[in-house]
Amino acid sequence: MIRHNPSGGWLEVICGPMFSGKSEEMLRRLRRAEIAGQRVILFKPRIDDRYDASDVVSHAGARMRGVPVASVPELVARSHGADVVGIDEVQFFAAEVVGAALELADAGVRVLAAGLDQDFRRLPFGPMPDLLAHAEFVDKLQAVCHRCGGPATTTQRLVDGEPAPYSGATIVVGANEQYEARCRDCHEAGTDLAAVAA
Ligand code: ADP
Ligand code: MG
Ligand code: ZN
Repeated sequence: MIRHNPSGGWLEVICGPMFSGKSEEMLRRLRRAEIAGQRVILFKPRIDDRYDASDVVSHAGARMRGVPVASVPELVARSHGADVVGIDEVQFFAAEVVGAALELADAGVRVLAAGLDQDFRRLPFGPMPDLLAHAEFVDKLQAVCHRCGGPATTTQRLVDGEPAPYSGATIVVGANEQYEARCRDCHEAGTDLAAVAA
């Protein structure tokens, strides 16, 4: 059974581009809850195998055990008994993650979801718009623009140092690509944007 929290549950979303400290902020919040004696569980989509298979690791090196799950039903099943449920890289989950997060919150669970609000084209990423709309608390973090040092709100995908094609797949795992945090001015669309938009 999902444990009922007498103070009620809620949904908090941490969003922003890559390198903005979403995972760091997630780990900071979960640690505080753990120290307070709450039962905490952290999930990550199985797709994200960038670092250790079961740890959520921030780019700055902080880590915490994260349970890799292949689907939203698996996430829900494994949430039973938790007071606090963290979901990192939530943009990679199917749309049903929104309903699952709301059900957990309705059942008294504090749900934290961290993810990219925009894909490399700057389009809203997967379930993020709905999660943001439903959340009680939202934090939008910025990285430092790789080009100009300003506040970066976008993620630049590069292939061989050039802006990646706009028509590329949204999710590419383990490909020969680099990512940079960029501000609005410095973000570059792929050269095929005009062709795609036509
Ligand atoms: P996210 O989960 O949002 O990708 P992380 O919490 O994993 O972010 O990493 C944030 C860390 O990334 C920063 O503390 C810093 O050490 C590192 N970092 C690397 N590149 C940048 C950048 N361009 N701007 C800010 N931080 C950066
Ligand atoms: Mg992260
Ligand atoms: Zn810039």
